Amino acid sequence: MSLAGNTNNVTYTGSIRKRLTLLYLGSTLILLICVLGFLMRTIIADLEFENCDFLHERLYSLHHMLAKHDAQFESIELLVESTATAHHTRYLVRILDEKSNIMLESDEMDQILPVSLMPGTRSPELAKNRKTKGDRIRGNDGTPYLVSSLTVNADSGRKYLIQAGLDISDEQAMLRKYQRNMLITLIICMAIATQLNMQLVKAGLRPLNELAARLQELTAKDLHHRIGSQAWPKELSRLTTALDGMLERLEKSFKRLKEFSANLAHELRTPLNIVRGEAEVCLASTRTPLEYQDVLHSAVEEYARLTHTIDDMLFLANSEQLKHLEILDVTSEMAPIIDFFTPFANEQKVSMQLHGEGHFEADRHLFQRLMMNLISNALKYTPPGGSVTITAHVDEQQAMTIAICDTGIGISPEDQALVFDRFYRTSQARQHNQPGSGLGLAIVSSIMELHNGTITLSSELGSGTTVTITFPPPKNTF
Ligand code: ATP
Ligand code: MG
Repeated sequence: MSLAGNTNNVTYTGSIRKRLTLLYLGSTLILLICVLGFLMRTIIADLEFENCDFLHERLYSLHHMLAKHDAQFESIELLVESTATAHHTRYLVRILDEKSNIMLESDEMDQILPVSLMPGTRSPELAKNRKTKGDRIRGNDGTPYLVSSLTVNADSGRKYLIQAGLDISDEQAMLRKYQRNMLITLIICMAIATQLNMQLVKAGLRPLNELAARLQELTAKDLHHRIGSQAWPKELSRLTTALDGMLERLEKSFKRLKEFSANLAHELRTPLNIVRGEAEVCLASTRTPLEYQDVLHSAVEEYARLTHTIDDMLFLANSEQLKHLEILDVTSEMAPIIDFFTPFANEQKVSMQLHGEGHFEADRHLFQRLMMNLISNALKYTPPGGSVTITAHVDEQQAMTIAICDTGIGISPEDQALVFDRFYRTSQARQHNQPGSGLGLAIVSSIMELHNGTITLSSELGSGTTVTITFPPPKNTF
């Protein structure tokens, strides 16, 4: 599966299922390692504490005996022997006098822990401190020992050195066993977690698969279907809302495309049918040259209409064409347009006025085309006795607003949003038998778009229409 996010050009490759499973497993592994590690550390610390405690307790009682009663050395010997026996020779002790002569030593201690192997001495205060750790060394037989030494300044004025060692091989074997068991536990837990996670991720992603299946089923005929009508998990609701929005837009575009094709066929077929019908009637019998002339004249008119429609369609198809912006004076630009329409307005008995002045930035040719369309609409759809007023106004930001206001047939609220669509004509316009193909306002709106301007329309059926266009402030100074 591959998702490409176009906002930041981030590309997601690979499977979400695999990625989620790995993430879950990674976190499970970290958690297990933390828990087992903590347990292991606690066990090690407890064992170490117990061993150190034992060793230093022995050392300290020997220190006490030697300091106070070194004269009764036999009882000290007895104490050492009894301790060693009680601990199955795991505990070794040696007492040296100030000349480093061995006064007392546990059996085999000289072979296992000779004097040279023993580390430095500790002060009695340190030995008393329960947190003090001994040193860990290996005896000559390879056995691990926890060792510690202590000097004694006896009340008799003599000095002694006590060296003690505790065999910790059992504890270390036990720790190794614990470690092995924990590793096995970790492996088993991870194997179970892998299986569980895979099932969980699969279940979690089921709605996404269902959504994909629903989308795959959709065809052009099902664009009215809405995915959000079904209940989806909260995380998918944004996606389903966006998809529904997209379906709605697609449905509208599809509908418009269908209407556009139907209108296009109609617009092209009507003049062709007229020309063909007239030619057929003409050919049915012998005609006078005047009659042939009439038929040709009418055909030329229809061809002109066809050419005009095709011309408009080509303009709309290439509406991305580059424009040449220049500073225009509204009064001088409007004068020839008003002159052009005056005979038609007089014929229609519609008055026409221009108010206001100012400069703005636009493409001259496109502006003329735009105004021709808007004024022609205003005159076409205004009955005799009405008026068309063009008002130009430049605001403080130098944006030019031109309003074309007529007192014509008006446009119903439902039609107002649709009149900018290609080939759309209102039923009122058709009733008034006015010629037109419904491309004028589409052209006007694409011209305004090219200028980064705006176009708005307000109208009331039977009262009139005002179309307002606004050009943004000029970028070039004049
Ligand atoms: P064309 O301009 O392509 O010759 P047209 O005038 O019918 O044909 P548009 O200019 O796009 O097409 O206008 C679309 C429709 O909007 C018109 O058919 C008409 O129904 C309505 N309309 C436009 N301007 C007015 C207006 N001033 N008053 C009433 N209706 C209007
Ligand atoms: Mg028009």
